[in-house]
Amino acid sequence: MADELSSSLAGLSANAILRLWEIGAAQHPLDRALTFLMVAEPGLTRAELARLPVGHRDARLLALYARLYGPQIAGQGRCPTCDERAEFELDARAVLAIADNDDRLAPMSVTSGDYVVTYRLPDSFDLAEIARLADVDQARQRLLERCIVQATCDGAEIAAEQLPAEIVALVAEQMAARDPLAVIEVELTCPVCGSQWEPVLDIVTLLWTRLEAQARRLLHEVHTLARAYGWRESDILALSPARRQAYLALT
Ligand SMILES: [Zn+2]
Repeated sequence: MADELSSSLAGLSANAILRLWEIGAAQHPLDRALTFLMVAEPGLTRAELARLPVGHRDARLLALYARLYGPQIAGQGRCPTCDERAEFELDARAVLAIADNDDRLAPMSVTSGDYVVTYRLPDSFDLAEIARLADVDQARQRLLERCIVQATCDGAEIAAEQLPAEIVALVAEQMAARDPLAVIEVELTCPVCGSQWEPVLDIVTLLWTRLEAQARRLLHEVHTLARAYGWRESDILALSPARRQAYLALT
């Protein structure tokens, strides 16, 4: 699939767009992210991609968005006060400038008082595991426990659940600092009531929305040309975009 999807370096072929849409339509957003990653990184397996820290995953998805649709990422949010729509535009290049491109995944340590905690960064497997939990605090706790490789107090090994809250908070803080793109916040101001808030950028949904629109447009083009000329879908999709547009202008 990776070869088929990465057939064109700059953009995606018409076939690849439809194939990607077909695969992604039935997927959970976490799996959809991995499907997009297979386009961005055809050299890595799905399991290797799922092991990427979340911020590293999102850096690749931002770069893919920039490659396919340009670096200006447009999105919108709903005002938490009055429910009005507010739009934002973000330059992927500015965000990628703070990306950590070092993929070394060796566990890291935090020492505080008698406590030593060794942890790794959350990846897609961790997100999939906590996606089933409805309670946000419970999910956060479970995520931390999964990512704590080892915890000791005074040299004796203890379970992650036995760590005091302030040590857990310290680990969470270090994790965020080590993987700055794991949570990308966008600053939004409501055009009606002036409220300000910072929603988290959902790059998977933004990519999917663009791809879905592209796929639907292509299907409509196939429909129009097939009806007008009796051509087969594969022949229409094999036309260059310029030729397809030229024929569409004649119908
Ligand atoms: Zn508002």
